[in-house]
Amino acid sequence: MKQLLFLLLLLPVLGLSQSLPKAAPLPFRTQAALVPEASYPSYPAYLTLMRSLAERYPDRCQLEDWGTLPSGRKILALRLTEEVATTTGKPQVLCTAAMHGDETAGYWLLLRLAEYLLAEEQTGLLQEIEVYINPLANPDGAFRRSNESLAGASRGNANGIDLNRNYPDPDDGPHPDGFDYQPETEIFIQAARDHSFDLSLNLHGGAEVFNYPWDTYRDRHPDTEWWRRISRDFASRAQTASGRDSYFQDRHNGVTNGHDWYPISGSRQDYMNFYHRCREATLEVSNRKQYPENQLPKLWQYVRPALLGYLSEARYGLQGFVTDRETGKPVGALVQVPGHDAHNSDIYADKHYGNFHRYLAEGDYQVLFTATGYVPQWQSVKITDGHRLEVNVQLEPLNSGKRDVTRKRK
Ligand SMILES: [Zn+2]
Repeated sequence: MKQLLFLLLLLPVLGLSQSLPKAAPLPFRTQAALVPEASYPSYPAYLTLMRSLAERYPDRCQLEDWGTLPSGRKILALRLTEEVATTTGKPQVLCTAAMHGDETAGYWLLLRLAEYLLAEEQTGLLQEIEVYINPLANPDGAFRRSNESLAGASRGNANGIDLNRNYPDPDDGPHPDGFDYQPETEIFIQAARDHSFDLSLNLHGGAEVFNYPWDTYRDRHPDTEWWRRISRDFASRAQTASGRDSYFQDRHNGVTNGHDWYPISGSRQDYMNFYHRCREATLEVSNRKQYPENQLPKLWQYVRPALLGYLSEARYGLQGFVTDRETGKPVGALVQVPGHDAHNSDIYADKHYGNFHRYLAEGDYQVLFTATGYVPQWQSVKITDGHRLEVNVQLEPLNSGKRDVTRKRK
């Protein structure tokens, strides 16, 4: 019985390794860690740390400066992937934390995650995906009193505005909170426009629950079945890794629909899902908002498998490239499942590279690819959990016949 249990436990691991590319594993870390073992970096130390990670791992890490606030503080992100200078067309995952400045654990956890992916991760995750890590989304709130410490950190930004109510809302429209878009909000909106994030996680504190869309609609997201599996997997991994009966138990055993918990307008999660067609969830990682420094390594052990599991999901689902049949150039086609999609749950292929990444629950789907000037094309697909289905679509230009005739006349 024990042997059977062992084999059952091993099955998901075996399934995962089969879909990985055969490449040399990354070297184990040989240098001293840059991220402090059990303390929050000061703001100047954070700036140095972000730069140092990019400098130490130049082949796998770039520092992106997303913008500067009126205070002079910066919103930064690390871009992590193999062959970072030349990579295109991989699924893009965003991890962001501390948009509520007093919810501190995510700030350290994402720095730790970045260094782990660069120095220790052994399954080749960065060969298949791009990870963007923004550990400090509201530096003015986090370092409210001084650059040296998080003591006195506040939920809001320098203007006291709650940034997680400050985004355009799918249901309630622009300015749902009645305030101007804050500098932090504008920087994030621009960053979302400049990238093609497919999957995203926004870390908070004050509860222990995985919150999936929507926050604003009572209606369920068309991909709720997929969201429920992702949420359940996250909660189960966190609960198991903690080895405690008490961690990550809020709401329904660590999982909730946003609107069911409490409806809000102007959340980042809904903004990203609706306006950027990116699958973003909200992670409440710890009951304590200002999380004690000496407990951080323990919290990292609790959530590491769940975070890696979430990142890993970016590799699965329906993926491929849409190109022009005649020129081979990428086409930013709409990829939709008619009769299934609603509230912008359909997605677009990237207009620069033609790649698309659509996450769907296990099952059979009829997928429609459309773009202005092209003949629409249907594809039948069978999606399996934990696997990637690659479908490359060549769209026929509508006027291709006419062009041929013109050429012949000349
Ligand atoms: Zn929060």
